[in-house]
Order: sequence, then C-alpha cells, then structure tokens
Amino acid sequence: MDLSRCRIAIHGGAGVIDRASLDGEREAAFRAALEGIASRAWLALKQGASALDVVEQAVRELEDFPLFNAGRGAVLNADGVVELDASIMDGRSRAAGAVAAARTPTHPVTLARAVMERTEHVLLVGEGADRLAEALKLERSPPDYFVTAERAAQQKLAARLGKVTLDHDPLYNGPDPKDPRGTVGAVARDAWGHLAAATSTGGMTNKHPGRAGDTPVIGAGTWAEDATCAVSATGHGEFFIRSALAHDVHARMRYGGASLAQACAGALARVGELGGDGGLIAIGHEGEVALPYNSEGMYRAWVDGDGVLRVAIYAEVAEHAL
Ligand code: ASP
Repeated sequence: MDLSRCRIAIHGGAGVIDRASLDGEREAAFRAALEGIASRAWLALKQGASALDVVEQAVRELEDFPLFNAGRGAVLNADGVVELDASIMDGRSRAAGAVAAARTPTHPVTLARAVMERTEHVLLVGEGADRLAEALKLERSPPDYFVTAERAAQQKLAARLGKVTLDHDPLYNGPDPKDPRGTVGAVARDAWGHLAAATSTGGMTNKHPGRAGDTPVIGAGTWAEDATCAVSATGHGEFFIRSALAHDVHARMRYGGASLAQACAGALARVGELGGDGGLIAIGHEGEVALPYNSEGMYRAWVDGDGVLRVAIYAEVAEHAL
C-alpha cells in the first residue's frame, strides 16, 4: 500500500455549456457537487479503499445529484420516461458489468456492478436488467423519482422540434430548458496502483425508446486495465461507439507506446473526425491524469499527484486545498 499512488477524477458531462445559460446559483451548485464528491472519493482512497469501490461510490453520488443526467434527473426518452445506462470496469482483471435502458434502479452503476460480480454476463438490457435489480433486492425507485420538471420540459421541447437532443440547437441557449448534458463518470487509481472506471447516464433527450449510447458499451464509454489506463467518456454516444473511444485510448498506449495525454488526444480526434463532440477523463498506470474535451466545456474535478483538488467547467481551473 502506497498512498502516493492515489488519484481520482470525476466528470458530470461535456457539451455545449453556454455561460449565459448557466446562472450563478446553478453554477455554484454544480461546482459544490463536484468538489464534495471528489473530495470524499479522495478521502476514501487515502483510507485504503479500492479504486473499484471508490468509482462506484462517486458515481452513486453523482447519480443522486438531480442536475446531472444520470439516476435522478436523467433525461427523458421519447415516451417521457427515463432509460438508464451504466457501466463499471475493474482494471485488475478487466472484469466488467453494464446495464442499458433500465428503468428502475436508483443507482444504475450499482446494478452494473452486480451484473459484473453476480452474473455470468457483462451487459443486461431493459426489463432483464430491472429484473436483476429486483431479484437482488437492489434499491429501485418508481418513475416519478427520476423525473425532474426541467427534464420533462426539455423532452417536450425536443419532441415538438422533432429532435433527439437539443445540443447545437439555437433554442438550447435560451433561458430554459437548458443543459441537456450531464452524463457522469469516475476513474480512480488506488494505493495499490489498481485502476477502475465507471460511467452512468440517461443518454440523450427524446431518444428512441431502447436506444443505448456509449456509456454501457465497454470499450466505448468505459475501460479500465491496470497495464494502461482507466477511462470514462461523455459526449455524443453514437460517435464514441463508432470510435471505440475508451478502448482506443488503451490501445494507443498498449500497442503504440503513446503517453496517456497523446492517447487521449488521438482517440478524441477520431471522434471529432466523425463530427462528434464530448470529452473524457483518464488516469494512466503511472498516475498521469488527463481530462480533454472538444466541446465548450466539461464538468470535472480531479486530484493528481500534488494532492490538490481541482474543479473546472470551462478552461479555467479552481484549486482547493485538501
Ligand atoms: N454519452 C452519453 C450518451 O450518448 C451522453 C453524454 O455523455 O452526455 O448516451
């Protein structure tokens, strides 16, 4: 055990984050949530918690925060209900679990972990995922628990416009509805040098029922492997799937000898080539931390080797002593 190995990074989504649409109170709430969740995760790592436990716990807290698009406060599909995607991966063994289009788990990331640890499978979808949550007596919630007034308004507007997401829509920058992004994720390196990653989302506003994005696709939205890196992505999921983004970061390091920063930049560039935008958070096997994005901003917080907690939405970074 070597506490100097500990690293944590979390995100609350990347995308069109127009400063004008982010009022002071709302921005302060986002920043406080990121700061609190990252600092608790850091403390847990310093107390010897495993990277796997820490990313699950951090994502559970992000799922509970209603302004992020995951768990409570997730965006609504074209039927006006949430369908939740999540995944988790353990860098020690490449064990992985994921759920897509689940409607009832209060904490989709915990259901993803249950798929990994308590079934022979990696990915469960829809009703089958919900049935596993029920069978294992994991916490479940009724539809109303997940739906916030803001998400309902966003879905109604998107449906009226016939769009699947409001990103890049001029109306998006209007006073309301705003901020359709907010997928969440965490990557960690523990005191033993093990890596883990987890990601959770409601996907895209007004998506087709049954649509799964990159988040539950291991290798697209999430990857962890002790020899290289842990990655959690956010952005326009279809492009991330078509780029195998998270695995591409790993492969560039493993087979191409790239540094973490080079691998992230190269992998994200391939998403950009297709016209996709978003970002990712990543921790390398030597403790490097990278948080690149090609969108306007990304909600993020991290602690790297110097033990300083950093919180950012745009390019400017606020530093907090721990
Ligand atoms: N990647 C997520 C999806 O496409 C959305 C996001 O990150 O905002 O489902």
